[in-house]
Amino acid sequence: MKDDANHFNQENQPIPVLENRPVGVKEKEREGVFVNGFICQNCGLHFNLFSWKANRHRSDNTYCPECGSKGSFIHYRKVLSTKRVRDNNSNDEIFRNVPLEGSQLMKDSIVISKQKDSK
Ligand SMILES: [Zn+2]
Repeated sequence: MKDDANHFNQENQPIPVLENRPVGVKEKEREGVFVNGFICQNCGLHFNLFSWKANRHRSDNTYCPECGSKGSFIHYRKVLSTKRVRDNNSNDEIFRNVPLEGSQLMKDSIVISKQKDSK
């Protein structure tokens, strides 16, 4: 398992990784951890998209982040976890995979200062 490396806010102050709780999908809605691999048939970009929902991201509702095309992808999906609650000790959680180790925080980041309660 990776160390509990910190994420950083806009002031470059560390945010403990275990406090960076998910927002958007409530834990009771979580179906597990999934990584969708897409290959754009328009421009050829390969990209991975993580989700807590098994079928949220499909070829017909996904846009290529490079060329903006929708719908023409080869789509793969890997189930990383079937746990319906976050396991802080698992390397299969999204927060262990994003950002990739060695990434630098970009200045265009928009940090929500008030975290929503995800429960
Ligand atoms: Zn594309």
